[in-house]
Amino acid sequence: MSEKCLFCRIADGEIPARIVAENEGAVAFLDINPISEGHTLIIPRKHYSDLLEIDSNALQACSLLSVKVARSLVASGIAEGINLFSANREVADQTVFHFHIHVIPRKGEDTIRFREIWKPLKITDQKMDLISRKISENIQE
Ligand code: 5GP
Ligand code: ZN
Repeated sequence: MSEKCLFCRIADGEIPARIVAENEGAVAFLDINPISEGHTLIIPRKHYSDLLEIDSNALQACSLLSVKVARSLVASGIAEGINLFSANREVADQTVFHFHIHVIPRKGEDTIRFREIWKPLKITDQKMDLISRKISENIQE
């Protein structure tokens, strides 16, 4: 890649960010446009555009750091619960194309209503069987 992406530049310390935790493979920093107080992004140090591209070591580093940040958010009293969110590819509303996990602190009095956009589809049993088979047949090691 010729030009470094925004999150690569944050990981390399070239753009300032409120870094809250780090490990060998990942960095956690506050989202500049938080949807709740303490909204944190977890990124791999190395560039992977999304979940479909990331390698397992980098994903493991991100997962472990997400748990640490989630526990800290609760221990500090910033959060009572946590949502994890990750947008992967444009069709899924990703806007920064360096893999990241949103760690979203939740509190009883917050105004986030994820369940309002969560509308279960009606799918026939036959279609569900087909979908299930398609997924399992395409699982790769
Ligand atoms: P996405 O839309 O890809 O799921 O998430 C990208 C996130 O990156 C957004 O929530 C956005 O607020 C955050 N973001 C974009 N630019 C910056 C930046 O320069 N610094 C920080 N800390 N967060 C950013
Ligand atoms: Zn990058």
